[in-house]
Amino acid sequence: MSTLARKLLIAGNWKMNLNSSEASELAESVVNQVGTQMEVAVCVCPTYTSLETVSQKVVDSNIALGAQNMHHENSGAYTGEISAEMLRHLFVSFVILGHSERRRFFGETDSDVNKKALAALEASLKPIVCVGESLEERESGQLESVIESQIKGALLNVSPNHADQLVIAYEPIWAIGTGKTATPQDAEAVHAFIRKLLVELLGAEAAGKVRILYGGSMKPENAEELLAQENIDGGLIGGASLKAHAFTSIVESAIKLSS
Ligand code: PEP
Repeated sequence: MSTLARKLLIAGNWKMNLNSSEASELAESVVNQVGTQMEVAVCVCPTYTSLETVSQKVVDSNIALGAQNMHHENSGAYTGEISAEMLRHLFVSFVILGHSERRRFFGETDSDVNKKALAALEASLKPIVCVGESLEERESGQLESVIESQIKGALLNVSPNHADQLVIAYEPIWAIGTGKTATPQDAEAVHAFIRKLLVELLGAEAAGKVRILYGGSMKPENAEELLAQENIDGGLIGGASLKAHAFTSIVESAIKLSS
């Protein structure tokens, strides 16, 4: 866990799961179990159709609301899209951008992610910018070049003034939803590399404020060891965020490390 003043952030990515009643129930359980603690920042990211109902569940708690994507324009003829302003209207405060599933299935590029990140920051949303390598890229020695071009592409023209709003999620693609997790040491090495890139891009002071989350089969059994690493400032949780108990156990691990 970071020795600097970066509050750990545990974010749940519910992906395309749960109808709005199920989402509301899950949100209620999360609020009941960890909604009043202040040591760790917690965020849940339901589908668009559940944002409003989940917003009402979390409104009086310390659980923040996140979305899974957005369009970079404010409004207009973009059928099927949602803007940052629309998310803000529902009290959304985080937005996941450039998840590997969006890159893979919907063709999102670093340039798309960059436009979205700039628009999100402009609208006072906190972007969670996802980066990560495939197994093939890792095994052929391209890990650092892949991460570098994703980070530099996604953060083009992002101001150091926005550093405390910015969140990066390192998610090795081979670890997402597979049950395989990067070892804490391997994950920390990539997080430290990302921090170095952030120093180059934003300067040392601002780079120290950016939270870098780990994502990829994080669960109650491995969370504490991962979150204990110096440059791992939280987790982006997929599968385990759909079970209130598993998700809140991860939050409890983060609380333990923070107190
Ligand atoms: C994710 O998709 O962001 C993720 C980390 O998924 P999982 O926890 O299921 O690997």
